[in-house]
Amino acid sequence: MTQPDFMKEASLIKDEIIDLRRRIHQHPEIGRTEVETQKLVEGYLQKLGIKTKRIAGTGVLGLLEGGLPGSTVGLRADMDALRIQEKTGVSYASKYPGIMHACGHDAHTATLLGAAKILAAFRKELPGNVKFFFQPDEEGDGGAAPMVADGGLENPKVDAMFGAHVTPDIPVGYIGTRSGKSYAASNPFDITIRGFGSHGARPHKGIDAIAIACQVVGALQLYISRETDPLDSAVITVGTFHGGFQRNVICDEVTITGIIRTLGPEKRKNTVEAVRRITEGIVQAFGAKADIVIHESYPGVVNDPAMTKLASDSIAELLGADKLVAVENPSMGTEDFGIFLEHVPGCFYQAGVANPAKTPTVSLHNSQFNIDEDALPILSAVHAKVAYDYLRGAKP
Ligand SMILES: [Zn+2]
Ligand SMILES: [Zn+2]
Repeated sequence: MTQPDFMKEASLIKDEIIDLRRRIHQHPEIGRTEVETQKLVEGYLQKLGIKTKRIAGTGVLGLLEGGLPGSTVGLRADMDALRIQEKTGVSYASKYPGIMHACGHDAHTATLLGAAKILAAFRKELPGNVKFFFQPDEEGDGGAAPMVADGGLENPKVDAMFGAHVTPDIPVGYIGTRSGKSYAASNPFDITIRGFGSHGARPHKGIDAIAIACQVVGALQLYISRETDPLDSAVITVGTFHGGFQRNVICDEVTITGIIRTLGPEKRKNTVEAVRRITEGIVQAFGAKADIVIHESYPGVVNDPAMTKLASDSIAELLGADKLVAVENPSMGTEDFGIFLEHVPGCFYQAGVANPAKTPTVSLHNSQFNIDEDALPILSAVHAKVAYDYLRGAKP
């Protein structure tokens, strides 16, 4: 059977996808408050005859059942916005002061709705199901984990997951893929170093928490430069350092907070252990004590090689091989799509949205961030084709 012309199908609904994106852009909602977006998504899917279910609070799960038996493929879009005052000056700018879709999640949601419409038209010939994950709260505490915990990957069981992020680093019309480690894992930490107070003139009678904490901060950077393979990146950022209250007093307590970012589960484990070992070793050497709390945040994104090949082949076939970009370096940023990939294989690709002729090329999370909307139907077509190709190729 010949394949649907996904690019043509997407072009036919280009205005509709742009309209959806602008409606969402005008009404941005912070993580866990995506109630309007949730209603819009539900209504749109239901009109297509796709079953919907609320999940993880403000999330939506859509299930498109194909006409033929087969596997189930998941497609994910995040829906939340950021606490940023929009400064793009566009006619469809955010109506809500201090809240903006500056990470392109409006585009993710609109393009996945577009993909749902395209796929729904071919449901009779689909061997298997497509599950649509409209995820809340990517920017906050994370919405992927609650979607998994609420059974999002079950009934029917999801066999593979795909998703995308828009990026100003790639020109519009191009899609980037990368196999393996693609986004960093993050571990926020809180360390309190307890010394002993004394008169500033008699440091030997106290235990100076500031001097010791400075050694800890320096040693953590030494771990990065001397214990980390230069080709296997890790970042330890100490973002806050608080201690002391008077110039002539030996400080008895310092609190430092920061984030460890690593690529891959092994480097994550080693770096978390090192932060603990180095901090404990230094405070012990100087007779102080430390409370070390290291939190587990996002696990990083590790794209499955076979699924990355499948997505890359689909993209090359759809857009032309010259439009497929091999993303050279992983990002030290974070993305909770990786939580799905801890359970099922998949690939998270990058959709180019840059076009300096139309909109300034600034980074994600910038108050002037905007996209070339020509990217929207392209991403809808990519999602639809990747899902279709997965189901066609999957062994029942
Ligand atoms: Zn973001
Ligand atoms: Zn984002």
